[in-house]
Amino acid sequence: MKIGFIGLGNMGAPMAANLARAGHAVTGFDLVTPCPDGVSRAEDVQGAARDADVVVTMLPNGAILRDVAAQLIPAMKVGAVLCDCSTVDVDSARAVADMAVTAGLDALDAPVSGGVGGAAAGTLTFMVGGSDTAFATVLPLFDVMGQKAVHCGGAGAGQAAKICNNMILGATMAVTCEAFALADKLGLDRARMFDVVSTSSGYSWSMNAYCPAPGIGPQSPADNDYKPGFAAELMLKDLRLSQQAAEAVDADTPMGARATELYAAFVDNEDGKGRDFSALLPRFVARSRS
Ligand code: NAD
Repeated sequence: MKIGFIGLGNMGAPMAANLARAGHAVTGFDLVTPCPDGVSRAEDVQGAARDADVVVTMLPNGAILRDVAAQLIPAMKVGAVLCDCSTVDVDSARAVADMAVTAGLDALDAPVSGGVGGAAAGTLTFMVGGSDTAFATVLPLFDVMGQKAVHCGGAGAGQAAKICNNMILGATMAVTCEAFALADKLGLDRARMFDVVSTSSGYSWSMNAYCPAPGIGPQSPADNDYKPGFAAELMLKDLRLSQQAAEAVDADTPMGARATELYAAFVDNEDGKGRDFSALLPRFVARSRS
């Protein structure tokens, strides 16, 4: 396939490289970063979009996506698919899909889970919103860049799935960290706590696969001085998107709201920026109730 790829940052560069390695003709564009091996460079957004069967975008936020989409959609050939893999607000995903469909194109929102490691290894999970035909067209590319693609529904459904998942993740990691800090103060050994919880009804991905306590459970960023991994500021971005969406549809999400407050304080006013999102554990350990 002829593929345009816009946004060659930490995630986009390895994803584009994997597509090129699989034999696709990939033309890339980024305002700042160079193209990875195997990807030819376009001079501008339109140059990456012009002949493409599929244009993939991997950009920082919804405002930038809207701006880039307004430039590239007029340059795309009729019938091509615009596939946005960024994590953005549901409204931006739907607005961009509307713009694309109005111009005779098809569109997917396809945010990912799996991080930079998953992007490099080609093991991402894609959560996809959009038409059946667009999903079928892009599925072979999802198979190259990832290990699983779930078609979640119409436009915006991929972003909705992503923010619901990450709202659960943020709240679960926060309560897992505060439980370890409570266990410390109760004199309960962390390894015993892990043995019990990881095989009892409190188990979760945060406890079992990504344990925030160093030296316990499988290897995780806690064992590497909380270097990310999944940075606290990216968790905060996703939690804020969840609260923006909850406000838009009048959904009551008190746990998500509290997790958002906690991560905002951690990133903006404490030492959380640049640390893994599981570094809430030393934060709780250092604090008392008041
Ligand atoms: P990044 O900042 O490393 O990459 C974004 C790239 O977009 C940059 O290289 C930037 O120069 C480029 N860009 C910005 N404006 C542009 C424009 N107008 N035209 C062309 N290029 C432009 O970010 P990332 O970590 O690669 O994340 C990308 C997206 O993936 C985000 O939406 C993020 O939330 C999501 N995501 C990231 C991770 C992760 O672990 N990094 C995990 C899952 C999802």
